[in-house]
Amino acid sequence: MPNPKHRFSKARTASRRANFKSVAPTLSTCSGCGASVEYHHVCPECGSYRGKQAVEKNAAV
Ligand SMILES: [Zn+2]
Repeated sequence: MPNPKHRFSKARTASRRANFKSVAPTLSTCSGCGASVEYHHVCPECGSYRGKQAVEKNAAV
């Protein structure tokens, strides 16, 4: 069975845990439909990014 070959040091474990993000990413509002969207992400509602249609969204699916 696969197993870790070595035990990680306390520093490595602490460093990994220190990088844990407990807060949700900052949201912006879509310029097309006004829904809350993550920065640098295409809008999940209308598929627009920076004022342009990036992904085709078909209403009848
Ligand atoms: Zn949108």
